[in-house]
Amino acid sequence: MTVVRPRGPLWEIICDECGASWHGPSGEQCWTCERRHEMEFESRRTQLLFPEWLGWGERFERCNGIDRIVWAETRGFTGDYRGKWKRDLFNAIPKFVSAREAADALKRYEKWMTHIERFDNSLPNLT
Ligand SMILES: [Zn+2]
Repeated sequence: MTVVRPRGPLWEIICDECGASWHGPSGEQCWTCERRHEMEFESRRTQLLFPEWLGWGERFERCNGIDRIVWAETRGFTGDYRGKWKRDLFNAIPKFVSAREAADALKRYEKWMTHIERFDNSLPNLT
């Protein structure tokens, strides 16, 4: 935060982070950055607690193994994205998520994995 000069009872302030400028009391925080940080925080929480791939439904299930990999890769999820998610979720405690929220997210994940496995096992054996 750079305080440039007084303007009446207020100061001309320029944010060092985003360049926004306004007139306010000395030391006032940048509203734009504050809002952006809040949104980034919420977005990070959502990605951790409700990852996009956890909502992939029936069309994903009906794909075979290779097609599921392609499905995930075209959506930006490569390699062991589920393992990475688990590590990220664990490392986000307590800054982004509580231990309870992480445990609930893991339950949703396990429920989904069980559902996928049941679906796979219900397919006719073509060999
Ligand atoms: Zn700012």
